[in-house]
Amino acid sequence: MSVKDFKLHGRIFSEIHREVDGICEFAAFAAGRWIWGREFLEVRSPIDLKVIARIPKLGWDDINHVLDVVYSVGRWKIRDIPGWKRLNMLDRIAELMEENKKDLINSLVFNSGKTRLQAEGEVNASIDRLRRADMDSRKIYGEYVPGDWDPTTVETEAIIRREPLGVVLAIIPFNYPLFDTVSKLVYSVIAGNAVVVKPPSADPIPVILFAKLVEESGFPGESFSVLTIPGKESDRLVSDDRIQAISFTGSSKTGKRVIQLAGIKQFIMELGGGDPAIVLSDADLHVAAKMIAAGVYSYAGQRCDAIKLILVAKDVYGEFKEKLVSEFSRAVVGDPRDEKTAVGPLICPEAVEEMLKCIDEAIKAGGNLLYGGRRLGETYVEPSLVEILDKRTLRGLKLYMEEVFAPVAIITDFNDVDEAIEIANGRRYGLDAAIFGYNLDTIRKLIRFLEFGAIYINDMPRHGVGYYPFGGRKESGIGREGIGYSVEQVTAYKTIVYNFREKGVWRYLE
Ligand code: NAP
Repeated sequence: MSVKDFKLHGRIFSEIHREVDGICEFAAFAAGRWIWGREFLEVRSPIDLKVIARIPKLGWDDINHVLDVVYSVGRWKIRDIPGWKRLNMLDRIAELMEENKKDLINSLVFNSGKTRLQAEGEVNASIDRLRRADMDSRKIYGEYVPGDWDPTTVETEAIIRREPLGVVLAIIPFNYPLFDTVSKLVYSVIAGNAVVVKPPSADPIPVILFAKLVEESGFPGESFSVLTIPGKESDRLVSDDRIQAISFTGSSKTGKRVIQLAGIKQFIMELGGGDPAIVLSDADLHVAAKMIAAGVYSYAGQRCDAIKLILVAKDVYGEFKEKLVSEFSRAVVGDPRDEKTAVGPLICPEAVEEMLKCIDEAIKAGGNLLYGGRRLGETYVEPSLVEILDKRTLRGLKLYMEEVFAPVAIITDFNDVDEAIEIANGRRYGLDAAIFGYNLDTIRKLIRFLEFGAIYINDMPRHGVGYYPFGGRKESGIGREGIGYSVEQVTAYKTIVYNFREKGVWRYLE
């Protein structure tokens, strides 16, 4: 693959990139201006690790200036645009995304290593998210509180409004660079906030392209920025007082650091996951095997809602295992541009190495490798399934304790649902769980005891466009993302008390 393969077609993007020494160099969108920067960060494609672009590495001077503009001008400008006009702007961005779909899809294929189908899915979900912004707007109502119920507040009343906080910092993970940027922009802007985006360093190109579409929509430039700096140099940004809310999606480890540094702010934290799937005795094993296999290896397991732990009722364990291995064996690993590919590359070689190290640890501890375990290239690896029947061993393994962000899962059996609940809840994460089966009483019990943000019955966990709210418990996060469910975290209550004492408004007091 060469730079010639990664080409932008839309003329709209011509001002924000240039070719230098055969490499595409992008500018960054800094509060209404495109800036090129003095230093650059290299962007590699996970397909073959070749450099496909360079982006500016912004310094503190640039960032400080952006925060000044966004804080002093941008947060007021966006709030002063009437809601219906803000909705129209979001609609216009959706239209521009439709018009430039080809480039957006290509950026996700080349930069994020997604298959064309997955890339298309992410672009479509982003467009849908923008178009459903009106549903978020229905959640910004306030409340009326009568004063009658306490002797000290009689003859007064209050209106409790929801107000924008000001500036939301949106920190984006590599696995959904476009959708997460769009989603965080939508609910922040509907609530009346300005947005500063910190894109992932591995695949910032989809975010930079999106910034151009935001600018073209007529969105006030001072109210939006994309700050291209490495995460490890972002401490000062995160702790800055000009930011009132942080919407972070990423690993639990980084999330903890962000919370510690940020100080007193409001947070949406969408953190690590890796979900359990529980297969009951009366499950449709064929359907469960298909869905669980896809749940493990889709986007090479690099999804927060990927299945990482498979718990199967003992009486169907053998039969289910066979079906699952057969599903794994059908998954074609390869170049994401190839239509046959189901499992594309991992984001970097280190992710492959981490996965293989964890499999090795499990095998040394007595586990059986049921499928996979072979590296097929620097960033390519077979989807893998490791069987661990000894529960004490299971609990000590990295594959159980950590989120290994790759196409690998462990499978074990259980005697009764209490055991399944205990193993599923034993991990530090609580994003989603899947249950396959039909016995209503058993399912109801599982729903009651599983400590997760969402439970999928006879389906693999998938957050999609966020039509249903998602978000985690325990180390998987704080707050919810999804249409209508996030405005709460990016707004503040303001209580307005009206005093009508002795004005004769309440006749019964005369
Ligand atoms: P990550 O390494 O934690 O990075 C996430 C973002 O944080 C990146 O933009 C990163 O920048 C930035 N960052 C790193 N250190 C920072 C710091 N000190 N201050 C501010 N920002 C900092 O996560 P990832 O590998 O990109 O994404 C995968 C993770 O996201 C997985 O754990 C996955 O489960 C989670 N995720 C969760 C959800 C959910 O809904 N719960 C959804 C998607 C993904 P750089 O790229 O420059 O390092």
